[in-house]
Amino acid sequence: METHLADFIKDTRAGQEAEAILRACVHCGFCTATCPTYQVLGNELDGPRGRIYLIKSVLEGEEPTARTQLHLDRCLNCRSCETTCPSGVQYSRLLDIGREVVEAKVPRRGRARLLRGLLRNTLPHAGLFGVALGLGRMVRSLLPRVLRAKVPEQRGAGIRPSRLHPRTMIELAGCVQPSMYPNINAAAARVLDRLGITLLDAPGVGCCGAVRFHLDAVGAAREDARRLIDAWLPLLEAGAEAIVMTASGCGVHVRDYGHLLQDDPVYAQKAARVAAAVRDLSEVIVGEQEPLARLLEGARKDRPGTATAFHSPCTLQHGQQVRGAVEALLQAAGYTLRTVADRHMCCGAAGTYSILEPELAEQLRDLKVTALTAGSPGVIVSANAGCIAHLQAGTSVPVRHWIELIDESLGA
Ligand code: SF4
Ligand code: SF4
Repeated sequence: METHLADFIKDTRAGQEAEAILRACVHCGFCTATCPTYQVLGNELDGPRGRIYLIKSVLEGEEPTARTQLHLDRCLNCRSCETTCPSGVQYSRLLDIGREVVEAKVPRRGRARLLRGLLRNTLPHAGLFGVALGLGRMVRSLLPRVLRAKVPEQRGAGIRPSRLHPRTMIELAGCVQPSMYPNINAAAARVLDRLGITLLDAPGVGCCGAVRFHLDAVGAAREDARRLIDAWLPLLEAGAEAIVMTASGCGVHVRDYGHLLQDDPVYAQKAARVAAAVRDLSEVIVGEQEPLARLLEGARKDRPGTATAFHSPCTLQHGQQVRGAVEALLQAAGYTLRTVADRHMCCGAAGTYSILEPELAEQLRDLKVTALTAGSPGVIVSANAGCIAHLQAGTSVPVRHWIELIDESLGA
């Protein structure tokens, strides 16, 4: 696609990156067919090709409007379009650049501004979020429907192993996950312990920065990244093999630290080192197939064999391009996997999207729940706390993290 970027951006690193991305797009429109927002709204400007045009116009000097911002806001950043694109267009990078420019030129006002500020200042703080969630649970039945759906029932975490193995890996506890679903990290620690790996916590590291990054606070997100890098590098240098992600939304963001801090003379190299050490939990456990098979063999009599439907988060299948690992593990553990139609489609959770764009998010969730429950599974599993909470609000079928099923199939 021919481009003529405006003076304000053409000589910047972002401008040059945007230009290369725009030039790669051949305007074929294949991506439109797999875009969830295009499928629901049917408007070219709510699909990837239309949004690419909008961003191109803004970068070429056209003044963005609130309408431009709305079409970009409606994008889930699910990256389904990237998976589909035959030309390798890095749509998500272009969207980040476009959103930052539009944000600077079209200030948000009133409720939209307040809500974004509130989310930026509560979600990344695990302690504050835990208190808010506790209060929310107490008055759950009185909350507006959209908020009620975000307050899951309390679940216990079980016992966390305390053995120290020679093999270690680092966990990112996360900001909202420990309060919402404490059993996820505990189950991951138990399964890895059975495989002879200790999961180390770097206490107090907090949020990876994904929340602030996607709420247009890129500077604060860089600060989050530097804090985590400072906490993790000594552990990597002491021999930790990997940084394990139990939430795919965090994984996709931390894998991008090298890019996020590429212009930071102190942190650029460190960020690249940390990003290269990131592994999704499913990748780690698939890499331990032999010891896992022995453990499963020993626990065979206890295998539940429940019919299961897996929702692969966009941040796993499109963002990190990790596919098939969770399915292989569940099948190895004796679960029967139900076929799910339109697996590429986003469930509508998408970080804070389900709060900022609740109507669209609910439509997408209902489509996803219909697909997931078509085979009458006894349980739905996913790999990201946000997807789990969002899906659970739309179905009575239990929605869990897949590691909890593997943990249970290994027995006590
Ligand atoms: S599929 Fe790729 S090349 Fe085709 S319009 Fe979409 S982004 Fe552009
Ligand atoms: S990231 Fe997802 S919602 Fe956004 S344009 Fe691409 S496919 Fe559509």
